[in-house]
Amino acid sequence: MIEPDPSAPVSAGQAPDEGAPTDVPPAGSPAGAAEAEAGEAFASFGYRDVPRAEKAGMVREVFESVAPRYDLMNDLMSGGVHRLWKNALVDAVHPRPGERLLDVAGGTGDVAFRLLQRQGAQADVTVCDINPAMLSVGRDRAVDRGLLHGLTWATGDAEALPFPDRSFDAYTIAFGLRNVTDIDQALREARRVLRPGGRYFCLEFSKVTLAPVGRLYDTYSEHALPFFGRIVARDAESYRYLHESIRRFPPQRELAERMRAAGFERVAWRDMTFGVVALHSGWRI
Ligand code: SAM
Repeated sequence: MIEPDPSAPVSAGQAPDEGAPTDVPPAGSPAGAAEAEAGEAFASFGYRDVPRAEKAGMVREVFESVAPRYDLMNDLMSGGVHRLWKNALVDAVHPRPGERLLDVAGGTGDVAFRLLQRQGAQADVTVCDINPAMLSVGRDRAVDRGLLHGLTWATGDAEALPFPDRSFDAYTIAFGLRNVTDIDQALREARRVLRPGGRYFCLEFSKVTLAPVGRLYDTYSEHALPFFGRIVARDAESYRYLHESIRRFPPQRELAERMRAAGFERVAWRDMTFGVVALHSGWRI
């Protein structure tokens, strides 16, 4: 795998990156239009459109199934590169002591642990995830690492967060937004819980910007994810869903537009590994 470009983190005050992606499908592309085509009654679950009311339960089953081997699988599937992507996210957040940080869809705590360690003595990090099985693995990992202070675990839905308005200085979501039923509602919720001056960061699989890399990556993810899923996690179906959900997630420019529509300002993004992953950021002013 190719390392992310560490030279250009999305910093707090970076201007919108209008020209970054070179291979962004126009509006009306399959990825961008998936939800619109499906209509309000349906949401995408991998390549399928399922009744909206059923998606959250189906996603929950996927992550319940993968929770025990989730971290091992992440390392195997990405060749460890997910660690570099997450480090780049935390560099961009640049947490300061005393700030209140929220990591949504925080799963087994990978991003939260990094935020906590960067904040040091005055750490205040809340991990929120809809799936108790993922959080349970996360809590065990925190204990194993001696991370006992400054960390709060909360069960909650990114679309209806169990926190008051204006309660956090920064909000992160890593590889979580593509799993929610209503991305726009999750974006509005993120803005709601941020204080004015608070920052939003989304790390997510995105649209590869270099065609040959895109072809290689497609072949890899279509075949390797279910293969690893079958051999290591004994669950090819869940990993097929992960591959399909990556393909249907809005590309860089569309996600930036939807962030602006949710009320974020100074929206920017930075591609990593040729757009395999993108880091979007925005401010609640
Ligand atoms: N952020 C972690 C990481 O990068 O390792 C975990 C990412 S994992 C691919 C996606 C997580 O999103 C799962 O833990 C899943 O339970 C969670 N999730 C899915 N839908 C959610 C929702 N509506 N609200 C909150 N969390 C959700």
